[in-house]
Amino acid sequence: MLGQMQPQALLISSLITHAERHHASSEIVSRRVEGDIHRSSWAQISRRSRQVANAIDRLGLSRGERLATLAWNGYRHLELYFGVSGSGRVLHTLNPRLHPEQLAWIINHAQDQALCFDLTFLPLVQAVAAKCPTVRHWIALCDAERLPADSGIAALQSYEAWIGAHASDYHWPDLDENAAAGMCYTSGTTGNPKAALYSHRSTLLHAYAAALPDSLNLSARDSVLPVVPMFHVNAWGIPYSAAAVGCKLVFPGPALDGKSIYELLQSEQVSMAAGVPTVWQMLLNHMQAGGLKFSSLKRTVIGGSACPPAMIEAFSQRYGVAVLHAWGMTEMSPLGTVCALKNAQLALPPEQQSQVLLKQGRAVFGVDMKIVDPDGRDLPWDGQSCGDLLVRGPWVIASYFKDEGGDPLRRDADGRGWFATGDVATIDAEGYMQITDRSKDVIKSGGEWISSIDVENIAMAHPAVALAACIGIKHPKWDERPIIVVVKKPGAELGRDELLAFYQGKIAKWQIPDDALFVDAIPIGATGKMQKMKLRQQLQDYRLPQWVGQ
Ligand code: ADP
Repeated sequence: MLGQMQPQALLISSLITHAERHHASSEIVSRRVEGDIHRSSWAQISRRSRQVANAIDRLGLSRGERLATLAWNGYRHLELYFGVSGSGRVLHTLNPRLHPEQLAWIINHAQDQALCFDLTFLPLVQAVAAKCPTVRHWIALCDAERLPADSGIAALQSYEAWIGAHASDYHWPDLDENAAAGMCYTSGTTGNPKAALYSHRSTLLHAYAAALPDSLNLSARDSVLPVVPMFHVNAWGIPYSAAAVGCKLVFPGPALDGKSIYELLQSEQVSMAAGVPTVWQMLLNHMQAGGLKFSSLKRTVIGGSACPPAMIEAFSQRYGVAVLHAWGMTEMSPLGTVCALKNAQLALPPEQQSQVLLKQGRAVFGVDMKIVDPDGRDLPWDGQSCGDLLVRGPWVIASYFKDEGGDPLRRDADGRGWFATGDVATIDAEGYMQITDRSKDVIKSGGEWISSIDVENIAMAHPAVALAACIGIKHPKWDERPIIVVVKKPGAELGRDELLAFYQGKIAKWQIPDDALFVDAIPIGATGKMQKMKLRQQLQDYRLPQWVGQ
C-alpha cells in the first residue's frame, strides 16, 4: 500500500519561490567586481532568476544542457543558480583559479553551451574561448555600459542587457526530481578532473540537512557570509539552504583579504561565516595586527582542510566565536560531518571539549559512514582504529559524469555501494569522526602511520608560524620520514632546532619530523588548500640531513 501524500518533486525552483513568498525583503548584499556594495533581496533575486530562465529559453538550450559560470560570490551568480537549474538546465560552476589549459579541458569535457563570467575573468575567457567550440554564447556579468568594446569574444553580451530583454513571468517546469541540476569538477589531484553531477533531489535534501541546528544551524535571523566560493561545491550548498530559511546573504565578491572580509562582517552584522582555514588565517592576522574585535559574528564554519587547533582557539577564546569544524567533499555535495557537541560532551571540562571540537564531527543525518581496513572489514568505533573512510547517502555520488574513472563505489556484503573518500579516519564511540590524513598524504614510517595533519597542527601552534606542511621523504630504512615545511609570519624569528624542539613532549618521539625547512611560500591550489604534491615536486632534490651524499 502506498502512502497518500502529495507526490511533489523536490525541485530547486521551489527554493526561490519560497524565499520570495516568505522572505521577500530579506537582503542579499554583494561587494561587486565594480568595487561598490550592491543591495538586493530575495524578491529581486527571484524576479531576476525568472528573467534568466526566459533568457536561456530564448538561447535555445535544451533540458540538461550545461551553462557554465566563471564568477565570484555575488547576486548575479545567485540568480544564475536558480534561473539555470530551475529551468531544467545544468549549472556548471567553473573554478577560475585553474590553469587555462585545465579550464578549457573541463569546458570541453562538460560540453558547456553558454558561459557567464565576471569581467575580472575576461583575460581567462580570452585565453580559452578559441579552444572551446561547444560554447555558443558568452555573457559578461555586467551592465551594457561596462561591456568591453574590443574583447575579441564573438557576440559577447552583457548580462543586464541579456536578461533585461525578457519578462519576469515564468512558469518553472515540473521536472523529474532526479534530473541533473548542477555540476562541479573535483580538483583532479590524481589524473584528469572528474565531475559530480548533482540532481534537484540531492540538492534539496542537502539544503534541508545543512540548515539543521547541529549542522550549519541557519535561520531567518541569520546574516550569512559565505567566503567559500560559489564555484567550490556551490559554496557548500549555502545558497540553497539560505533560500530555504530566508536568511540574509552577504557576498564578498573578489575581495577575500582579511581587511575586506572584516569590513563586511562588521557593516552587515554577519552572524555566521564559512570558509577554508587559509582564508580565516588572513582574517585573524588582520584582526590581531589591528587589535580588532567582532561585534556580531557568532559562529564560523571551517572546512575543506583540517582546521588547526590554534585557529579554533583563537576564534573561540580571543574573539568569542564558535568554530564549527566541518568535513565533506565535492562528491558529497559537500556536507558529511559537522562537529557540534552533544550534552555528554558539554558536561566535560573545557580541555576535553576542545579535544572533541578538533575532530571533523558527527555524520549529518542522510550520510552514513564507516571505516574499514585494507581488506574492507569494518573497524570499531573506538577513536583509535584508523582506516579508509567510506560514505553513502542521497547526496553522495553514485558515479562520475560520463562514468569517468569507472565505478567509484565499493560493495559491502549486502551489495550496498559505499563511496571511498580517500581519507583515513578514526570514529569514536560517540560517532565523532576525525580525519587523520588523506590516504595519499599519510606518512608511512617503519610500518606505522604518521598523520601529517597532527604534525602540521603542532607547528601551527607556534607563534612564529604562518603556514606549515608536513610531507614524507623517502628513507632507506624507515621507508618514509616526515619533514615540516614552514612559512614564517612576517618579521618573526624561528630557527630549525627551535621548531623541532617545540615538538618535544607533544607527539611520540618517532613522529617528530626529521627536519624543518623554511620557505617563502607553500603552493596553494585552486580551492585554497595546500598542494602537497607540488611541494613534494619542488623538494624532489631534497635529502634528509643524515642521508645527504648517500
Ligand atoms: P579536492 O580537494 O580533491 O578538490 P574537495 O574540495 O572536494 O576535493 O575536498 C575534499 C577533501 O578535502 C576531503 O576528502 C578531505 O581530504 C579534505 N577535507 C575537507 N574538509 C576537511 C576537514 N575539515 N579536515 C580535513 N580534511 C578535510
